[in-house]
Amino acid sequence: MATNIQVTPSIKDTTKLERIGAHSHITGLGINDALESSSISPTTSSSGLIGQVKARKAMGVVFKLIQQGKIGGRAILLAGPPSTGKTALAMGLAQNLGNDIPFCSLSATEVFSLEVSKTEALTQAIRRSMGVRIVEEQEIMEGEVVEIQIDTLSGAKPGKTGRLTLCTTDMETIYDLGTKMIDRLTQERVTAGDVIRIDKGTGKISKLGRSVSRSRDYDAMGSNTKFVQCPEGELQKRTTVTHTVSLHEIDVINSRQQGFMALFAGDTGEISENIREQIDSKVSEWRTEGRATLVPGVLFIDEVHMLDMDCFSFLNRALESELCPIVILATNRGQAMIRGTNFMGPHGIPLDLLDRLLIIPTSPYTLEEMKEILRVRCGEEQVEMMDDALDLLTRIAKETSLRYAIQMITTSSLVAKKRNSKKVELSHIERCHKLFFDVQRSTKFIMEYQNQFLF
Ligand code: ATP
Repeated sequence: MATNIQVTPSIKDTTKLERIGAHSHITGLGINDALESSSISPTTSSSGLIGQVKARKAMGVVFKLIQQGKIGGRAILLAGPPSTGKTALAMGLAQNLGNDIPFCSLSATEVFSLEVSKTEALTQAIRRSMGVRIVEEQEIMEGEVVEIQIDTLSGAKPGKTGRLTLCTTDMETIYDLGTKMIDRLTQERVTAGDVIRIDKGTGKISKLGRSVSRSRDYDAMGSNTKFVQCPEGELQKRTTVTHTVSLHEIDVINSRQQGFMALFAGDTGEISENIREQIDSKVSEWRTEGRATLVPGVLFIDEVHMLDMDCFSFLNRALESELCPIVILATNRGQAMIRGTNFMGPHGIPLDLLDRLLIIPTSPYTLEEMKEILRVRCGEEQVEMMDDALDLLTRIAKETSLRYAIQMITTSSLVAKKRNSKKVELSHIERCHKLFFDVQRSTKFIMEYQNQFLF
């Protein structure tokens, strides 16, 4: 195993999908480079986010710290009441950092399980949040079938050399073109942007269309690899195939017999230190050779006051390590008992860790902001809602919680469908409100019937 480390393309962690699905409308922090307030309107969605202006500006400053490599040794604490967008802000930051930036979200209580120790659970979370961007050389064999799109031919004249871009749906390869090929392309009046087919036998070139996506031939060809025969000896290849995997994925694949299928096997159990050391040294080798870069992602730990002293000490140490992602903690507690001690602490966090934290408060939403968030969610879930129904849902959000109201979007749309209505109406919201309890009503119900429950 040690010498032959396996890597497969990134596979999303299905256990986290549900939690992240609720934030699918968030595509960034929605602030401009200067963090100007004019760019953030309290009630208009920008990158899916509404309001929470101060917190977003603070996250914008954090974004700059990360970009300038000055975040090391610190973490962020988002502190505010429930449903004030702490998770949404953490996701927004991750999205701003880049498309392939890992985002790992867990609730502090998930750290405590019977299968793995607390520190193992935290180590796995940290390594899930560390991306490795791998650049691979891919040899195209003689006569292999590929499709090419002319990219930078402009200016190339007969007798000169130029470049071709090989287009597939998941990679881009640059070819250096030989002189003979340039002559042929010029004869055929092929220009930049054209998709061409080259016959291996005769070297004859035919144009397929102006762009890969619009070419009917391309569509007909289906999935990844495309159809132009490379004439032997004409093209020399240089490749840039990049994919990002998390350190944890590499750990799992290399610690299990079944290879990358282990990623689907549910709980991964403990991974030995020995394996991790080997992976780390391999990745460091790849980095030295220029074949990989480390991409720190975002590790979001919700309900952080539920961690105990061992976990806090572990996090304190982890923040010093080179292999540490951007750690964002969140809590909705003020003064709370620090678990594993008899002491109270601000947010239930010990002072030595608090010292390292940039604390960003999030505040409750106005009615107007809530309505806008619900409207954005309706758009995201492709649910059409009547104005009076949205007004009612907003009032429900205010009285219960934003999250409860967001859940009612899907349920009320199903009721609407059942009643053959294209739009969600007031009565559909009322129906769902009766069918599904919010936390307060559920608690009240249980109190009323306390005696009839089993103990
Ligand atoms: P908790 O403390 O209970 O974990 P939270 O502060 O993390 O809550 P979120 O889960 O981020 O709150 O918010 C609840 C829902 O409202 C999510 O679907 C989230 O995407 C959405 N939401 C919250 N704030 C905003 C916002 N400012 N703009 C758009 N959507 C938001």
